[in-house]
Amino acid sequence: MTGDDVGDAADLDDVDAERELRFHRPNATGFALQEPRHATLGGVTAQLIDGAAIAAEIRRQVAGGVARLRERGIVPGLAAILVGDNPASISYVSAKARASDEVGIRARTYHLPAETPQEELLALVDRLNADPEVHTILPQLPLPPHIDERAVLERILPAKDADGLHPWNLGKLLRGDLDGAIPCTPHGVQQLLLRTGNDPGGKHVVVVGRSTLVGRPLAVLLTNKAPGANATVTICHTGTPDLGLHTRQADILVVAAGRPRTITAEMVKPGAVVIDVGTNRVDDPSRKRGWRLVGDVDFEAVREVAGWITPVPGGVGPMTIAMLLVNTLRAAERVAGLPPSSFAPTP
Ligand code: NAP
Repeated sequence: MTGDDVGDAADLDDVDAERELRFHRPNATGFALQEPRHATLGGVTAQLIDGAAIAAEIRRQVAGGVARLRERGIVPGLAAILVGDNPASISYVSAKARASDEVGIRARTYHLPAETPQEELLALVDRLNADPEVHTILPQLPLPPHIDERAVLERILPAKDADGLHPWNLGKLLRGDLDGAIPCTPHGVQQLLLRTGNDPGGKHVVVVGRSTLVGRPLAVLLTNKAPGANATVTICHTGTPDLGLHTRQADILVVAAGRPRTITAEMVKPGAVVIDVGTNRVDDPSRKRGWRLVGDVDFEAVREVAGWITPVPGGVGPMTIAMLLVNTLRAAERVAGLPPSSFAPTP
């Protein structure tokens, strides 16, 4: 998971503070479908996809699963490893620890000095692998440059992979086997779609970005021959000539480019669902901290064209944390010999 994985973690409190009333109704499958909430009051504008509210709903489901495990004397445990003093990483790790506490997951944070040798970090991973109280291990990325991130990620037992980024779990995903840990951000995007009634099945999904963290696992997840997936997916990247030619064909457009305004209004098909994964810090002297987060989509213009749109913050970011909790709960359930709780992507 990168330092941006939870992107707007630092803004979660802002989102809560500014929150308007949310309205939810259950659908036939028991999920709460989000009621339409328009991004602007006048004209035809996109409905906002409230990631903060949907993530809260998933956290409530996780809390139920954790309570059932605790009744059996099992406390799901997440071990986060933070190396160095990157303020953003500190903020992300504390957001994850807070979210874990709230659902009853016991979070431990190992905060190591920036100069920690790789061998020492690997030895810690070995100890956590062997610790029965730890069900998932989360090294907060980026790690300092002298440490090989891949070596650390691969040292974690696949069964304790918090992020779903271990090659074993990525391989399972590729096979269409969703029993392992599923990468958090792609899984969160899928849940956002399903829980707003935007089943990707039969739709053309265009993904901008091909990272192992977001773009590629998302494309694999959504092309699975399974309910809640079954989409036709196009992946775009910097080698794609005429990006707009592709994005304009998207019924569902997911943008994970890491550049503000990668997507402008004329690049979006009217009525499309637009999911903005990007989290970019831009200067904002009007804020006390001097910056604010924006996505990769020109939100103000695109919301006049799209049918649905995620805000930044308050869209994908909270979902990434929620799906991390899901992975931890499911890891603990496996150890307890219970079938993993279903967060099945049932449309
Ligand atoms: P990454 O590893 O830098 O990958 C970015 C991808 O976007 C690359 O594949 C790149 O293409 C492509 N790209 C960049 N500019 C483009 C353009 N103008 N046109 C077409 N493709 C373009 O980033 P990442 O880790 O996937 O993250 C992407 C963004 O999502 C970042 O802002 C990150 O902070 C954010 N993020 C947010 C969350 C969350 O929870 N909210 C989680 C994860 C990531 P090439 O491969 O050709 O270079």
